[in-house]
Amino acid sequence: MELMLPSDSQQENAQKPLILAVEDNEDNLLLIDYMAETLNCRFIGESQGSNVLAIAKKYQPNIILLDIMLPDLNGFEVFINLQQDSGTAHIPVIALTALAMKEDRQRIEAAGFHEYVKKPYMIDELENMILSYIS
Ligand code: MN
Repeated sequence: MELMLPSDSQQENAQKPLILAVEDNEDNLLLIDYMAETLNCRFIGESQGSNVLAIAKKYQPNIILLDIMLPDLNGFEVFINLQQDSGTAHIPVIALTALAMKEDRQRIEAAGFHEYVKKPYMIDELENMILSYIS
């Protein structure tokens, strides 16, 4: 019986870092998808906060970009869920936020997010931040 080996492309695929982006704004998701391609990463986009824990557990992304303002669970709640689960607590999470007030920033820092990026995104800033976690 012949042994089935994964094709080169599958092997290559498995080695590419995976970015999970959680955003309810479709344009922002497309932007991050494009960015992931530029960085030679795989990409999963999700708009529902309540789906994030299951997706992160299953696919084990190298990094999660998490919008704070989501229609169902907010980013803080999603982050707490991720931190409390031993299957996801190790994954770095970057908050994406339009919250601009000093108190909001302090709240994000106090929650324990690895980093945060203000909207509108500076593409270079976000790319460099992603690179620092996946390389
Ligand atoms: Mn949002």
